[in-house]
Amino acid sequence: QAKNQGKNRYCFFDATIKMLVTQRMKMERDLRDAVDNHQLYLVYQPLVNLDSRKIEGFEALVRWHHPVNGLVSPVEFIPVAEETGLIVEIGEAVVEMACQMLSRFKQAPLLADLYINVNVSSVQVLARTLDSVIRKNLQRYLVDPEKLNIEITESILIEDYKAALNFVRELKAMNIKVYLDDFGTGYSSLSYLHKFPFDAIKLDRSFIQVINDSRQNEAIVESIGLLASNLNIHIVAEGIETREQLIKVQHMHYHVAQGFYFAKPLAEHKVEVFVKSFDYDAGEDTILQ
Ligand code: C2E
Ligand code: MG
Ligand code: MG
Ligand code: MG
Repeated sequence: QAKNQGKNRYCFFDATIKMLVTQRMKMERDLRDAVDNHQLYLVYQPLVNLDSRKIEGFEALVRWHHPVNGLVSPVEFIPVAEETGLIVEIGEAVVEMACQMLSRFKQAPLLADLYINVNVSSVQVLARTLDSVIRKNLQRYLVDPEKLNIEITESILIEDYKAALNFVRELKAMNIKVYLDDFGTGYSSLSYLHKFPFDAIKLDRSFIQVINDSRQNEAIVESIGLLASNLNIHIVAEGIETREQLIKVQHMHYHVAQGFYFAKPLAEHKVEVFVKSFDYDAGEDTILQ
């Protein structure tokens, strides 16, 4: 149509669109190379148990070391990977790396009891191959399924309720725990909480961020904590950055906390040292001053 309107027709969007499309195509190509050339790796953020005050596990978060651009955030490349379907391969690599790490955990007395959470997006669930990939890797690396947890977000529950339920049931049958990630950010419906056999929910960090701003914000975090505990579901507070926030969620009966207050995601080789020297009360002095 536009072509027929004459060769000389000038559209000032053209250049920008062309640049965006080119950038996007380059990212797709590069991302394919990244999978083939092992440029993707995992970092690990501790989850701290608020009763024992010890690290009970880690969330595995994918990172891309681009040969020219350096570190690329998953926030940038996961959406591209989802749209192109590359997320399926990336997800397989992530599951394999997490299982390799868990098999290393078994050799280190300090880490042997710890679990690893792996994030899974809805495209991966809809591809319907992930449960067999998980099964295969658990066997290959001799990993106890109880040590691998899967995090899914609410979006899959809306996109394809049946596929999501099947997936969660497959995982449960394998003895894998399922976490509902970023709770409260999607089209949260409380009915999901009892229709799906979730083992834990992770309250999104946007709620923690504003917990000190008003009594209302605090009440929301507290009520969600109560709801989870009444439903017998574990509850994790994401994005804890300050001691004040930590103390609040502790008093609201949250089981687990995760966030920069304790640690940013750690490189693989730093995990064991971190667990060894972890001190829950390390930040206490600074707040009491
Ligand atoms: P998520 O699963 O909700 O992961 C938590 C994100 O919050 C991580 O960002 C983590 O670094 C960040 N975070 C943790 N504590 C704090 C805090 O105290 N303050 C702040 N400001 N941020 C905190 P990251 O690593 O950039 O990952 C972003 C998202 O990318 C993840 O959100 C997840 O949805 C997705 N993602 C990461 N790895 C994977 C993966 O292997 N597979 C899939 N499908 N998605 C992944
Ligand atoms: Mg997560
Ligand atoms: Mg999350
Ligand atoms: Mg989140």
